[in-house]
Amino acid sequence: MLNIVLFGPPGAGKGTQSQHIVEKFKLIHLSTGDLLRSEIAAGTPLGQEAKLLMDDGKLVPDEVVIGMIDNKLKANKDAKGFIFDGFPRTTEQAKALDDLLKSNDDSISGMIALEVPDEELISRLLERGKDSGRADDQNEEVIKNRLKVYNDQTAVLKDYYSKQGKFQEINGLGTIEEVFGRIENAIEKA
Ligand code: ADP
Repeated sequence: MLNIVLFGPPGAGKGTQSQHIVEKFKLIHLSTGDLLRSEIAAGTPLGQEAKLLMDDGKLVPDEVVIGMIDNKLKANKDAKGFIFDGFPRTTEQAKALDDLLKSNDDSISGMIALEVPDEELISRLLERGKDSGRADDQNEEVIKNRLKVYNDQTAVLKDYYSKQGKFQEINGLGTIEEVFGRIENAIEKA
């Protein structure tokens, strides 16, 4: 299977690029952010709890997102592979993902990190907030908190995958097509 972790800070373009990757490589897109927003839209207890954390730009507990990914992997046993978007976000999540895949004799093929400077991320997120309806994209303090959480808890995963020889970094600036071209090259090498 081809299992790609698409990595990068909030606003780096993971969601947009995931759609192109899905089309070209026929992988299943698993975004924990999207899964959590579906829970919120459905008004489930999990969604109600997650919303409080997400609106503040904080992470939801590891066991919650790990459980959601576990369910999706089990429900898609015949997939050609997966693109993980917004997951893993902590070392705990990365270890759990390795274990879940291993129990199916599988593993991560590669991690592709989109690099975008903070000023650009903040302006992209504020722009997205104007019409996405996402509360976490409409407040600069919340955006800065998400970037801090990314730098404090998530960025270390570059080392985690680097140690396994699975880390590739690419420039996330440019047109959607330009960035996708770089991702395609990285996937061919994964
Ligand atoms: P972005 O990357 O633009 O912040 P996401 O949709 O990936 O957007 O995530 C939105 C919010 O959902 C995060 O700020 C966090 O509260 C929560 N979330 C998403 N994925 C995870 C995860 N893997 N672990 C913990 N919290 C998560």
